[in-house]
Amino acid sequence: MAKLIQENDLNNSAVDDTQSPPLASKNASLLSDAGKRLEKALKHIDISEDAIARLRYPKATLSVHIPVRMDDGSLKVFAGYRVRYDDTRGPGKGGVRYHPGVNLDEVQSLAFWMTFKCALLDLPFGGAKGGITVNPKELSKSELERLSRGYVDAIAGFIGPNIDILAPDVYTNSTIMGWMMDQYSIINRQLVRGVVTGKPLTLGGSQGRNEATATGAFYVIEAILPKFDIKPEQTTVAVQGFGNAGAIIAELLFKAGYKVVAVSDSQGGIYAPQGLDIPSIRHHKAQSRRIKAVYCDDSVCSIVEHQNISNAELLALDVDILVPAALENQITAANASDIKAKFIFEVANGPIDSAADEILLAKGIKIFPDILVNAGGVTVSYFEWVQNRNGWYWELEEINQRLKTKMETEVEKTWAIAQKLEVDMRTAAYIHGLNRLGEALDAKGTRDYFKQ
Ligand code: NAD
Repeated sequence: MAKLIQENDLNNSAVDDTQSPPLASKNASLLSDAGKRLEKALKHIDISEDAIARLRYPKATLSVHIPVRMDDGSLKVFAGYRVRYDDTRGPGKGGVRYHPGVNLDEVQSLAFWMTFKCALLDLPFGGAKGGITVNPKELSKSELERLSRGYVDAIAGFIGPNIDILAPDVYTNSTIMGWMMDQYSIINRQLVRGVVTGKPLTLGGSQGRNEATATGAFYVIEAILPKFDIKPEQTTVAVQGFGNAGAIIAELLFKAGYKVVAVSDSQGGIYAPQGLDIPSIRHHKAQSRRIKAVYCDDSVCSIVEHQNISNAELLALDVDILVPAALENQITAANASDIKAKFIFEVANGPIDSAADEILLAKGIKIFPDILVNAGGVTVSYFEWVQNRNGWYWELEEINQRLKTKMETEVEKTWAIAQKLEVDMRTAAYIHGLNRLGEALDAKGTRDYFKQ
């Protein structure tokens, strides 16, 4: 059932551009919007035309349909995707998303961002991403397992520890990563740990991977705020999305003394100007699956004074720091003028579209981009892949120390580019990533080699 569009095949008339729009496309799509950031960065960088031409298109796109036997005996077929955007700097690397809104355009955009993120962090990986169009909350655990194994069956020829490596993303977790690694190993008749990262510890996962995206984002925030002479105890924070990334960054900030005044999930949010007790809210959510403004003493939780707010209201709160940690396109031209935060740290991928970027920058809001802020996840995934290859496992302190060094190094380099070229941090991050990508692409030969 697999439909394979291979190796820069976009000139082939069999490829439907409306379904798979290249960056240059005039169609309004997430991918063409992502391309606008690339175009902005290209104005500041001397990179070969060949490299630019290659980066305009995803290298390989696989579209599959996965038949799953449901618990009641019926058969359901789910659409799935895997996209390898560029693998010049190493095997593709990227998460797998389970969400009803997953489509090819979204997966291609996420793979595009992964390409720049891995280059920005100087990881020996290209960019990839996968997804299944499904509401996982409607499936039983065994249906979810059959779907996850079926997805790996469908894409097994397209992935591998030296080709393309999977990881968790929205509504996927370590259990699902374990099933995927196991299925790939069954197909290949050998244990292949390095094909998936974010696995359970007992199956070759890494210490610190579950918290890595938030921990990396925390190191970025802590590296940036002193540049503006801002102290945690004077700083209010609102976090949109209370999943793996959002709940953990909220807790890290809370524990470091920041006043987290609002959090939300897909059901809506809570706001308390005096600050929320994040560990209590996480504890309550783990038991009830709902966010509630509570203070817990062991397992006894009582409601604290708060307001219920919508996600739109959370984004518009008058706070120092806004952390979007849910999905893409949350801030667009339609609501950008409502945003009052002074700083936005993008923990989600693509939460601000390119039109909103310009409005926010004109208002003087400092935006720290996804490809830098949430890169802690892929960085510890890289550590997990290295540990799997060596069979030598590191302690948590070593993981976090290496992560901190990596994040701080690239924050400082990106900051220096932004200062030198007088550009915003997103453009600086793309310039930084592009420099590394251009160098790698050109090392394979440019048109200059063929002159005379
Ligand atoms: P998750 O599934 O653990 O959590 C997602 C959260 O977002 C949930 O709390 C959900 O209720 C909430 N949510 C969904 N729709 C929402 C909406 N419309 N408004 C507000 N909240 C909504 O996912 P995650 O892994 O935390 O990923 C969140 C974001 O971080 C995504 O953009 C993802 O691509 C990005 N990210 C994740 C990782 C990782 O390692 N998990 C790494 C890098 C980037």
